[in-house]
Amino acid sequence: RLYNEVQDLKGNIRVYCRIRPFLPGQSEKYTTIEYIGENGELVIVNPAKQGKDSRRLFKFNKVFSPAATQEEVFLDTQPLIRSVLDGYNVCIFAYGQTGSGKTYTMTGPDVSSKVDWGVNYRALNDLFHISQSRKSSIMYEVGVQMVEIYNEQVRDLLSSDGSQKRYPFLQFNTSVPDASMHPVKSTADVLELMNIGLMNRAVGATALNERSSRSHSILTVHVRGLDLETDAVLRGSLHLVDLAGSERVLRSEATGDRLREAQHINKSLSALGDVIFALAQKSPHVPYRNSKLTQVLQSSLGGQAKTLMFVQLNPDVDSYSETISTLKFAERVS
Ligand code: ADP
Ligand code: MG
Repeated sequence: RLYNEVQDLKGNIRVYCRIRPFLPGQSEKYTTIEYIGENGELVIVNPAKQGKDSRRLFKFNKVFSPAATQEEVFLDTQPLIRSVLDGYNVCIFAYGQTGSGKTYTMTGPDVSSKVDWGVNYRALNDLFHISQSRKSSIMYEVGVQMVEIYNEQVRDLLSSDGSQKRYPFLQFNTSVPDASMHPVKSTADVLELMNIGLMNRAVGATALNERSSRSHSILTVHVRGLDLETDAVLRGSLHLVDLAGSERVLRSEATGDRLREAQHINKSLSALGDVIFALAQKSPHVPYRNSKLTQVLQSSLGGQAKTLMFVQLNPDVDSYSETISTLKFAERVS
């Protein structure tokens, strides 16, 4: 097996924290980040309080400082991604308020420059590389799906006319049965598909209604390996999820569509939290049915599946209360 990491105490769930750097023009004077430890410790300070009470310690499998590069983040994720070729189901998602770097981590700021590539491009690139160079008796097929979940509705981002494309030779376990499946042979194929997906996602979005922050996007990679010597078939899948912004929307500020969106996001993020919490507790009942998000991700959460959550943080004091609420979500599941 390629995947040989020591398992965490709580099984197959690991949590990484990544802190976004200050952006150009932002004042670096006031930050909530006081200390980042080598072993996953993070100390957050409340600017409004004094003394011992103003500090809180959180613990993760790892904390990436604002200086961490896309490459560094990927290297710590790679063993998990490669385990897909051994037949595991893996789910990687980014959680945090809007502007905390979820899309940066998962996709990257600029697809045209390779150094900026986020986890999803690097993952696909790596899977192709490995699948073509590994034991020659295994033939791999790779298929990709990309959907968005908005207001509890699943939308296929790779099929503009809504029609189903079927590839009978690809016998994947489709966890997203309503979405089209696209066979891919190279990273270039994937880049092309993802650009289509990202463009489709932007349709309907205006400056006022920046939809990407209020919908979940899920890129699913299905891998099927056929061992030509033994006829054994391996199936693995990778879900790469850029979640909707976790910020709480004040009832007083939201009405109509905005309020409905906020309620749907709230519901699905808490359903996700409940599922991961139940798994971490080894509870016999895992409440997958409570949201579209957890239904779609079911095959890659629990059982033998491996889950990685990126907890994304803004470093500035203005984000203090959202930062704490993000950390509390993480604390519950880690
Ligand atoms: P989110 O998807 O959570 O709303 P984004 O990924 O869009 O947040 O990040 C918000 C802004 O911060 C973007 O301009 C992005 O390029 C920048 N950013 C986020 N993380 C980093 C990072 N690690 N290094 C440099 N810039 C970053
Ligand atoms: Mg985003």
